[in-house]
Amino acid sequence: MSEIVLKIKEANLLGRGGANFPVWQKWQAVISNSGSEKYIICNGAEGEPDVEKDEFIIMHYAKELVEGIKIAINEISAKKAYIYLNHQYYSKYKDLLLSFSEGLPIEVVEKGKGYIAGEETAICEYIENGFAEPRQKPPFISDKGLWGKPTLLNNVESFYYVYKISKDEYNDKRFVSINGDVVNRGTFELSRMLTIKEMLLETKNYPEFDFFVQVGGGAEGLIMLPSELDVPLSGCGAIKVFNRSTTDLIKLMQYWADFLNKGNCDKCVPCREGMYRISEMIKNNDFNQKKLFEIFDVLEKTSFCALGRGASIPFRSLIEKLNFFEKYGKE
Ligand code: SF4
Repeated sequence: MSEIVLKIKEANLLGRGGANFPVWQKWQAVISNSGSEKYIICNGAEGEPDVEKDEFIIMHYAKELVEGIKIAINEISAKKAYIYLNHQYYSKYKDLLLSFSEGLPIEVVEKGKGYIAGEETAICEYIENGFAEPRQKPPFISDKGLWGKPTLLNNVESFYYVYKISKDEYNDKRFVSINGDVVNRGTFELSRMLTIKEMLLETKNYPEFDFFVQVGGGAEGLIMLPSELDVPLSGCGAIKVFNRSTTDLIKLMQYWADFLNKGNCDKCVPCREGMYRISEMIKNNDFNQKKLFEIFDVLEKTSFCALGRGASIPFRSLIEKLNFFEKYGKE
């Protein structure tokens, strides 16, 4: 194992796109692959609502981010690296990132349409063919990614911290976007060991009113109650606070349903039909608990990709934890 991969392993750097996969394992898988042509993708799609941490890093640490990608290019002898950015970031930061990339085989690419266009195999498909649709896994992209070649994909934050690790400056922190009904919204670099409650306290955002939070993103994130916040934040670095007495739960669910309906790719029936039916129930204010939970089960068990499999998370957790059907339910 090379020195940098060993350092990443010892730092216990976990991927910061949401899946928490050990970064060193991805690197080692691509390095160990005998293929001679290899690629890198830095994922800055950041398509989930209320997650702004990657933008914060690009805005403040573009040079360090490119340095992290450069380390990966050298380490895996990559033919090319792609920095993949959503439309807004592409317009704002393309030139800044290219200014630090001179002499490096780096291209900045604008993300395809829809939330699904941030999924790793959909990114490969989009860069190759201009259409963002997920591919069957396995094979994983570390084995067959861009053009069927081994491809290393890490998120913006992961590459930034690879740079910090290379300089022995990594101190087990992570970036967290905090927003919603808070007084001090923004992105903060916080110790990874803090609990969610401590993160809210440390940023002076712990509410004095009755509240709930959504963690991991404003669409597929999990709903948690104040009594559940004595645990570290896992998944994507985002916490959204909701005032329980002023939040319209139906409007909130409608927002998730619209976002996921619009952001999926329509490739598979469970997700396409399931999200449509969930949306329909919410729109018509005609809830059937049994049917709804059957749709959740089908989504979780039979969707083709992670978007569909995770789509029930916000709905199920809101319904179960906030006693939704006591107010709106029909059997
Ligand atoms: S679950 Fe199916 S429809 Fe939904 S995004 Fe994935 S492939 Fe597309």
